[in-house]
Order: sequence, then C-alpha cells, then structure tokens
Amino acid sequence: MTQQPARLCILGGGFGGLYTALHLSQLPWVKQEKPEIILVDRSDRFLFAPLLYELMTGELQTWEIAPPFEELLAGTGVRFHQGTVTSVDLAAKQVQLQDGHALSFDRLVLSLGGETPLDRVPGAAEHALPFRSITDAYRLEERLRVLEESEAEKIRVAIVGAGYSGVELACKLADRLGARGRIRLIEQADQILRTSPDFNREAATKALEARGIWVDLDTGVETIAADTLDLSYKGNVDTIPVDLVLWTVGTRVSDVINALPLKQNARGQIVVTPTLQAVDYPEVFSLGDLVDCQDAEGQQVPATAQAAFQQAEYVGWNLWASLTDRPLLPFRYQHLGEMMALGTDNATLTGLGFKLDGPFAYVARRLAYLYRMPTLEHQVRVGLNWIAQPLRDAIGAIDP
Ligand SMILES: Cc1cc2nc3c(=O)[nH]c(=O)nc-3n(C[C@H](O)[C@H](O)[C@H](O)COP(=O)(O)OP(=O)(O)OC[C@H]3O[C@@H](n4cnc5c(N)ncnc54)[C@H](O)[C@@H]3O)c2cc1C
Repeated sequence: MTQQPARLCILGGGFGGLYTALHLSQLPWVKQEKPEIILVDRSDRFLFAPLLYELMTGELQTWEIAPPFEELLAGTGVRFHQGTVTSVDLAAKQVQLQDGHALSFDRLVLSLGGETPLDRVPGAAEHALPFRSITDAYRLEERLRVLEESEAEKIRVAIVGAGYSGVELACKLADRLGARGRIRLIEQADQILRTSPDFNREAATKALEARGIWVDLDTGVETIAADTLDLSYKGNVDTIPVDLVLWTVGTRVSDVINALPLKQNARGQIVVTPTLQAVDYPEVFSLGDLVDCQDAEGQQVPATAQAAFQQAEYVGWNLWASLTDRPLLPFRYQHLGEMMALGTDNATLTGLGFKLDGPFAYVARRLAYLYRMPTLEHQVRVGLNWIAQPLRDAIGAIDP
C-alpha cells in the first residue's frame, strides 16, 4: 500500500506565506517525502505592500505590485486555493473556509497578517479609510477621483498616524493633488516616525515641509464624522472640516487567530519559539505580523515585510526538516535598515552603513524592492517595464 503524502497548509499568501511556499518548492525533497502543499488566501493576488502607495500616484500598476498567485506558483507544485479562512480546529487538524471547503493538514503555517483597527474612535469605521490592501487602495482611488472631479477649490485630507504609512501616504497624496491638496498629518506623540533613525526622520520632516503638509503633534482624534474631525490638543477640542480621512494607526490580529487555543501576547499575537513553532503545537508554524517572536539571540523581531521575508526562509526549511527528521534551525533576524518613499521623486534609506535621501534613494529603493519581488519571471517582467516606461513616455511626448 502506498503512503499518502503529508499535507501542508499555508494560510495567508503575504510576505510570510507566499515566500514560505516558494522556499518549500525549492528544497531538495526526495520523491516519496514530498508533501502536498496548499496555499490559501482570500485574495487571488499577492500584494507587495511597501509599493502600495505608488498605485495612488500612477507610478506603478496593479499587475506590478499584485501579481496573481496562480502565475507566481505556476510550475512550483504548490496548489493555490482562493478562500477565506473562518476557523481552524487544531485538535482535528482541519481548516474551515467560508466557501464550505474543509482542508485537513499534517503541518500548518499561520501567516494571515494583521488588520487595521477602525474601532479606536467613534466614527472611524463609518468615515475613515484604512490603507492596507488593494481593495483599500481602489476605494481611496475612487474617493480621490470624485473629489478631483468636483468643483471644490481645495481637497482636504486628514491622515491619522505619522508612522511610516502616514508619512509615506501624505507625501504621495500631496504630489498627486498638487496645489489643490490640503493635507494634514495627525499624531498623538510629540514627533513623527518615533522608531526611525534620525536621518530618515529628518529627511521625512523636510519632505513634509516642502509639500506644505501640516503636522499636528501631541494631537488626539476624538471623533470622526462624514465631513468633520474632532481633534484634541492640550485639553481643547477643535472641529475641523475635512473631505477625506485616512486611518493608519495600529495593527491587530484577526478573529480567526484570537479564537485559537495558542499562547498569545496581550495584542493577540501568537507567541512562537525561535524555530517559529507555536508553543505546545510543534506542527503549527507561524510568522509575519501575527507573531510575537524573539529570535535565537533574544532580539524582538519587528512586524515588517523584511522580517516576514526572512522568517519565511526558516519556516520553509524547518517544515522540510520536521518532515524529514532533521534538526530545526532557530531563526536569526538581521536588520537590514529601513526605506521610505517621500513623494514621487524622493525617498530616504538607512541601513548596512548607508544613509541616502533624494532621487538616488528613490531609485535605490525601487531596485531593492525589485530584487525582493517573488519569482525571477515577475522580477524580469517588472524590471523590463521600468526600463521601457521612460522610453514610452519620451516617444509619447514627441508623437503628435
Ligand atoms: C501600505 C503598507 C506599506 C508597508 N511598507 C513596508 C515597508 O516599507 N517595509 C516593511 O518592511 N514593511 C512594510 N509594511 C508592512 C508589511 O507589509 C507587513 O509587515 C508584511 O506584509 C507582513 O507579512 P505577513 O505575511 O504577516 O502578512 P501580509 O503580507 O499582510 O499577508 C497576509 C495575507 O493573508 C491573507 N488573509 C488575511 N486574512 C485571511 C483570511 N481570513 N483568509 C484567507 N486569507 C487571509 C491576506 O489576503 C494576505 O494576503 C507595509 C504595510 C503596508 C500596509
């Protein structure tokens, strides 16, 4: 009698899940050891989130930053199943999907990422837009288009949170809206980009000033209404008129994760061992934004694409090791630095002994992300398009 191959389910195809699947497909499986690998995601596309802002300025197109899973996984032996995970029964080793499908597993990878909490102030869920997914970007595009086509002299945008997302979004939207834009960045703390290196914070401050973006520090958002925002500063509450509110503050894990009997921290993140396994559940691996992870040296690993990308290599390896009776490797995080887009021709980056801002940083950031894109085929298609685009623009400019 032939033995059934082990089944490995990867839930969530973001930086953690997709790159785990791609690593797994490249490992040296002996034929009879090769497991069935299934990647589940509610979307049909992977999203390269750090380049999501570029959709709002038309610098990049959806196919470049969000290629379909079917295309990325072609020829890898990994099966893609589009579906929304509604629950996981760890005792029965079964995943339940919204479409009624149930998937059994021998090994599970939890990589469902995080969600933007819109319940922190009254009115946020009804009137503020998050900026995390392609759907969020399309919704924002639609709102901007309506405002741009309106008779309004000015378009007033408030962005809540002056972390990476808030600052990057503010600069890109300021460049898109030009003189018509009135952009306001609201931050509860006494400075922007609290966790950034000074160089990046200073470059970002200059970029915000150059674009005339108002920055309200030490300011809380009390309530959000359809066309106003209540802001509190030093005990006083001011109501300001606004056309669009974007909410970029916080990350939380989904209800599917909260419902699991796994060890979780106060923020609901799954606590994992340095080998990226859930405590007391060695068949469950987890990575990315939904884990609380200390690496082999005890460093706390941040919730970033960079960390998820590095963890994916270890999860892939450790799954292979656990199915082939080899020792598992503890994760070692290497902080490579941070990069930020600061408009359509400007960026800043700090890391590996380098500090750079301005147009050169803009190009360096693009190239670094091109290198990180999944699959060589996709990198080549996007890279060729980036080379061809300026030529097309130049021809378009002289063509009557
Ligand atoms: C706009 C933006 C800019 C960013 N910029 C940077 C940056 O410059 N540098 C950096 O390091 N990090 C950046 N990040 C953070 C980075 O994207 C995340 O840390 C990273 O994506 C985490 O990877 P992950 O695999 O945990 O989650 P994700 O990449 O978010 O993937 C989660 C996947 O799970 C799927 N999913 C979720 N719930 C379900 C469900 N119930 N059923 C089925 N599928 C589900 C989602 O569709 C998604 O594909 C940025 C994030 C955003 C939103």
